[in-house]
Amino acid sequence: MKSVLKLNFSTILFLLLASSLCAQNAQSSQKLPVAWEELTSSDFSLAVKQSDSLCIIPIGVIEKHGQHLPMGTDVYTSRYISLGAASKEYAVVFPFYYAAQIFEAMHQPGTIAYSEELLYKILEETCNEISRNGLKKILIVNGHGGNTYFLQYFCQTMLAKEHDYSVYLFTPSVDAVTQKKIVSMRKSTTGGHADEGEASTMLVVRPDLVKMERSSIESGEDQKRLSLPNAYSSIGWYSKYPNHYAGDAKDANAALGQIILTQKIQQLSEVIKTIKADKATMKLQREFWGKSSSPVTR
Ligand SMILES: [Zn+2]
Repeated sequence: MKSVLKLNFSTILFLLLASSLCAQNAQSSQKLPVAWEELTSSDFSLAVKQSDSLCIIPIGVIEKHGQHLPMGTDVYTSRYISLGAASKEYAVVFPFYYAAQIFEAMHQPGTIAYSEELLYKILEETCNEISRNGLKKILIVNGHGGNTYFLQYFCQTMLAKEHDYSVYLFTPSVDAVTQKKIVSMRKSTTGGHADEGEASTMLVVRPDLVKMERSSIESGEDQKRLSLPNAYSSIGWYSKYPNHYAGDAKDANAALGQIILTQKIQQLSEVIKTIKADKATMKLQREFWGKSSSPVTR
C-alpha cells in the first residue's frame, strides 16, 4: 500500500508553527549557567528572573598560601562553594574577584595588595553594577580570613545612603556532627592559613595545583614574637607567622576536604533560599532611610 502525503498551505503552516514551538520549549528548558561570564547577554534577563534577582560575589585574594598551595586558593575555594550552592538553588555568580585586604602578606612574592580606598570603591561599584543589571540582592561569600572585618565594615556602610539593593554577607557555621567528624579526621591541632583543612579542600577544588611535598619546607608554627594580651596590633599576624603559613598541612587529604566543602555548599544553598524569600530587609532599609533623613521631630 502506498501512502500519499498531501502538503497544502495549512499543513505547512501547522508544521512550521509546531517546529518553532518545539525550538522555544527546548530553549526555555535548557539549564542556565550560574556563572555570570558563561551566560549569553540574551540569557542574562532569564537568569535575573530565575535567580529571584540574587547575585553572589565570591571574594578571595591573591596571596601566598605556604609553599604548597596556589596563590589563588581563596578565590578558587569561594568560587567552588558558590558555584556548587548556586547549582542547587539558582543564583547568578559574579566573575573571578580578588580585590581584598591583604597588607599583612606584602612581604611575600606575588601578593596583590590594592589600597584601602580602591578596595572599598571597587566593591561599591561592583555592587552598583550588579544592581544596574537587575540583581537587587547581593550575597558576599568570603574566602579570605583577612578580609572579614573589611567586609563587615563595607556591609555596615550600606546604611549611610539609600540604595535600591541589599547586601548580605554569608557567615558560615559548622554543625556539631560535622565538627566532630572534622576533628576526628584532622591530625593537626593548630591552623589558620594554608593549614590541614585548607590544603584538604584544595585537594578537592584544584588537586592539580597542590604540591603536598612542599608542605614542610617552612614552619607554620606560631613564632610568639610579640605579647600584647587584650590588645590588637596590625603587625600581630606577621609576628606570629612570618612565613604566611599557620598550621601543619602535611596530613591533608581529599576526604576531609570533601566533608568541609559539602557542608558549606549545603549551608550556602539554604542561605540563598532564605534570602530569595526575604522581603523584610529592603522594607526595613527603606523605613530606616525615611526616618534617618530627618530624625528630629518638632
Ligand atoms: Zn586561604
